[in-house]
Amino acid sequence: AIPLVVAISTTISAQKGLLIRNRTAFEESRKITAMVFDKTGTLTEGQFGVTRVVSLVDQVDETALIRTATALEQQSQHPIAQGIVREAKTRNLAPLSISDFQSITGKGISATVDGKKVAVVSPGYLKENGIELPKGAYSSGAETVVFVLQDQQIIGFIALADTIRSNSKEAVQRLQEAGIKVYMATGDNQKVADAVAKELGLDGVFAEVLPDQKVRIVKDLQQKGQFVAMTGDGVNDAPALAQANVGIAVGSGTDVAAETADIILVNSNPTDITNLVEFGKATYRKMI
Ligand code: ADP
Ligand code: MG
Repeated sequence: AIPLVVAISTTISAQKGLLIRNRTAFEESRKITAMVFDKTGTLTEGQFGVTRVVSLVDQVDETALIRTATALEQQSQHPIAQGIVREAKTRNLAPLSISDFQSITGKGISATVDGKKVAVVSPGYLKENGIELPKGAYSSGAETVVFVLQDQQIIGFIALADTIRSNSKEAVQRLQEAGIKVYMATGDNQKVADAVAKELGLDGVFAEVLPDQKVRIVKDLQQKGQFVAMTGDGVNDAPALAQANVGIAVGSGTDVAAETADIILVNSNPTDITNLVEFGKATYRKMI
């Protein structure tokens, strides 16, 4: 029966925005009991707009802050980087040159600008490195915030907002109706994660997750007896996709993620996964 199923699944899934790379993935997808979604670009649009630019030192104004951050972000492919670069374009800011660019995996980026060591980093990076915020400087809503550092001192921050995809809620509800627990894993901060989780009615959320911690999340769920599907887009997501029972690479993501995955979510649309699961269950019901 497998070749028939493969034939059916390949035909149908092509129309539904899925590329099935592994013959058994379709068969396996009906067994999924836990679904772990990426936030950025899967449950959300992955299009960050800058909402606030706040300088925390006298010598640096808003324009200088965005200009410095942009010098670094031009080298990055992260959706946050794209949002900041777009903002600089809107403001017609001339580019600065940099050297020694480095990516701090899952936490930010750094480089040398004008002889100074500059970094754009996550709240988690500040905590880890014992860098304290000036009191009352920063009250966060459900925004993604990155801090701009100069010689390891905070000079300001940039807040950004992404929007939840219009069909994410439906995707989550239908998966839950099919008996699947729906989780989200994100490198973003807890407040943003909680806001998305509440809006979508998720069963659980993992925030401020470093890329290499995603494997652990999958393993823990598996140890609790769950049959786990996971979506991911980055190079660093590949081990988690390999560990998952069904690894799903987001279409807009990296080649490494795609090569490791069983399924590619061509349009990064979460309802396409819901369709697959429902279709898988229905097909097997008919065949048995
Ligand atoms: P996610 O894919 O959930 O956004 P990442 O691991 O890619 O998670 O990023 C985690 C966090 O690290 C981001 O929320 C941000 O704070 C920080 N970060 C990552 N890349 C960049 C970047 N290019 N510029 C600024 N901050 C970054
Ligand atoms: Mg990522």
